[in-house]
Amino acid sequence: MIYVLVFMMGCILGSFYLVIATRLPKGEDVLFSRSHCDNCHKDLKWYNLIPVFSYIIQGGKCSFCQQKIDPLHLIVELITGTMFLASYLYFGFGYNFLINLIIVSLTIIIYISDFKYMIILDSPLIVSSVFIINLKLIYLGLKPTLYSILCGICLFVIMLLVQQLGKFMFKRDALGGGDIKLSFVIGLLLDFRLGLIVLILSTFLALPYSVASLYLIKNNEVPYGPFLVGAMLIVFMLAPKFELLFDFLFRF
Ligand SMILES: [Zn+2]
Repeated sequence: MIYVLVFMMGCILGSFYLVIATRLPKGEDVLFSRSHCDNCHKDLKWYNLIPVFSYIIQGGKCSFCQQKIDPLHLIVELITGTMFLASYLYFGFGYNFLINLIIVSLTIIIYISDFKYMIILDSPLIVSSVFIINLKLIYLGLKPTLYSILCGICLFVIMLLVQQLGKFMFKRDALGGGDIKLSFVIGLLLDFRLGLIVLILSTFLALPYSVASLYLIKNNEVPYGPFLVGAMLIVFMLAPKFELLFDFLFRF
């Protein structure tokens, strides 16, 4: 029963994340406007909005104008639901599970908005930070929380320096402001050592993609955010292993 509940919660939030990631960059309101069909603009009824089920029952079409609904809706809902369920199976209920839900949520939103619009929205970063700080206060106490905030600021400054250095050396922006703000969240969430590993790992993840997109489609505008959150997810789930790796590398 709890598995179904966690999965459904993921599907519902996934459908909300898709709305955030595709409407906010266009300046559309997401909290107070009714959901509507992108083709006929009719307001959707509650039974059109049940994640996964509505899509399947309506055969992937709008029930008013029969226009095909982007299958991205179904895909994002299923992926988010599956990742929520996987987090529960991996961690069980508790601090790590809740934190992992925040990382999964950020991953979904940033993948969509950064690949589609080359933008990392501020509001998901702000909301995540507030959640993370509260969870740390509840589970870890005041001192570790303040330390984590300090770590976030450190990573933010490091990325800011990298950006300024890149600007100075290559005369163009290699890092967006969103990537730098995201680094604060990474430091806040993982503290300094693991945060640093995320920054390093993300460049390794981004490298094959950048090279491929440069040579195959002659595009040198590569979003970096998806690789940062991807690395954050990997490092958080395998945190003890990366702690050992860090100890091993920096022992001398
Ligand atoms: Zn329609």
